[in-house]
Amino acid sequence: MDVELVSIGDELLLGFTIDTNAAFFAREAAALGIQVVRRATVGDGAEAIASAVKEALVRTGAVITSGGLGPTADDLTKPSIAALFNRGMRLDAAIVESLRARWKARGWPGELPEANRAQAMIPEDAVILENRHGSAPGIWLEDEAGRWVAMLPGVPREFRGMTRDVLLPRLVGMGAGGTVVRSRTLRTTGIAESALADALGPLAKDPEGVALAYLPGWEGVDLRLTVRDLPGDEADRRLDAAATALRARVARHVYGEDDADLAVLVLEALRAQRMRIAVAESCTGGMLGMRLTAIAGSSDVVHGGVIAYDNAVKTGQLGVRPETLAAHGAVSEETAREMASGVRERLGVDVGVSITGVAGPGGGTPEKPVGTYCVAVDVRGALRSFRASSVGDRHEVRQRATQAALSLVRASLGR
Ligand code: ATP
Ligand code: MG
Repeated sequence: MDVELVSIGDELLLGFTIDTNAAFFAREAAALGIQVVRRATVGDGAEAIASAVKEALVRTGAVITSGGLGPTADDLTKPSIAALFNRGMRLDAAIVESLRARWKARGWPGELPEANRAQAMIPEDAVILENRHGSAPGIWLEDEAGRWVAMLPGVPREFRGMTRDVLLPRLVGMGAGGTVVRSRTLRTTGIAESALADALGPLAKDPEGVALAYLPGWEGVDLRLTVRDLPGDEADRRLDAAATALRARVARHVYGEDDADLAVLVLEALRAQRMRIAVAESCTGGMLGMRLTAIAGSSDVVHGGVIAYDNAVKTGQLGVRPETLAAHGAVSEETAREMASGVRERLGVDVGVSITGVAGPGGGTPEKPVGTYCVAVDVRGALRSFRASSVGDRHEVRQRATQAALSLVRASLGR
């Protein structure tokens, strides 16, 4: 099935909001055999909305809109599209009631504002698409020729929720999805794109006839396999075969699939070995601690940490020797190792991990240019460390150093 998307909102045109809804929809839909063949973005004006939707209806006859369903005056999606379908608007008593109940349940003062009643105005002969994630319901309008528009709210949480629990099931029910586009991602870290391609050898290009893309980012290089125009089970079989073939060559660099998080793997490895960890962070200022503690249930494994930004904290709190700092500098493997051991011993845990680096934009030297970082891990007295250099701005350097530290912990635990 082919569909078009029309994203509505001045803030999208102005560039203040990035259109994540369209990207989300395209990804989810492709996996079910629903192709987004064209996307448009328009401002909040009624005429702009109507003309974009009208063109898409003529071309494809299947249109999904995002945004402009709210209670404010700039929310014109419903009336402008209703006019296209020559439908009037009516007040839906059931929606008013549910808006009122929602208002009360939230404990907001007073009665439902008059403006909210606009959310209960719907085109005649429309199907109401239930919104379990917010107040404005979605709307489905269809003409005699079977051309349709599905209007969803713009708030990303609501758009995503409704796409999943209302819109996609409806499209599949209409017979969408004979063939699908499906992807699988193998996530690698600590190896460059070119080195990966070398390691893959003959599989570097389109393994098992499956398209392969190399996607480098701060977390590492993702290997994305994609198959198109196949029935669902055949697509999955091909992806399985290609993923197995890739793993046979680069397994030790692969830490997971799809949206796998290295921090989750590190926590699992620690848990399996009944170990606890503490962090000592200089240039990342707590990012590593944040990555680990962002994961629910981390408290049985994560003990705590020290943000050792100033050298006085490195020496005073972690026991880094002043001679080490004087001889090698704060950004050195020697200092990183003493930080890791110091935090492990002083916090009384099995594993200490440290990061020190030059995040920039200032502070670089010829020997230690911006982007240089050192990480170290101490597992019950066994030390490992390395020095590396990262591309990117301050934020990216800090993200890459954090990922490198997680990677070293994982390797140190034999995973
Ligand atoms: P509401 O009932 O909250 O007014 P709405 O359907 O009218 O919902 P909008 O007013 O268009 O939606 O947008 C609500 C919020 O969602 C805004 O903060 C906007 O920046 C964001 N948003 C809108 N469209 C998109 C989009 N396509 N991608 C990401 N965010 C979006
Ligand atoms: Mg709005």
